[in-house]
Amino acid sequence: MDNEYFEDYVVTNIIEEIVDLRLDKAIKEVGVCGCKRCRADMLAYALNHLPPKYVVSIKGDVYSRLSTYSNQKQAELTVAITEAVKTVGKNPSHPEGHPITENK
Ligand SMILES: [Zn+2]
Repeated sequence: MDNEYFEDYVVTNIIEEIVDLRLDKAIKEVGVCGCKRCRADMLAYALNHLPPKYVVSIKGDVYSRLSTYSNQKQAELTVAITEAVKTVGKNPSHPEGHPITENK
C-alpha cells in the first residue's frame, strides 16, 4: 500500500490563492483603503474578472503549483488585481474615512 492513498486531496481555485497573496501589496502600491471590507470587495471583483483555475493538490501543499502558475500568468493577474484595487478604492462600500476594521 502506498502512503499516497491516505493523503487528503483538496480542490483549490489557484487564482483565488494568488490574488489573495498579492492583494495587500497592490493596495499599498495604489494607496487606497485596504480595510477588511474593501479587501473582500477587491478579491471578489478580481475573481469575477478572471477565469478560475482549479487544481488538485495534497492538503497543505498548494504552494509549489502556485508559484509555477503565478509566473506564467503574472501579467494578466497583475492587470486584474490593479483594476480591482483601483475600482473598489475609488468607490468603497463604506463612507469615506470610515474603514471597516476588526474593532468595530
Ligand atoms: Zn475600506
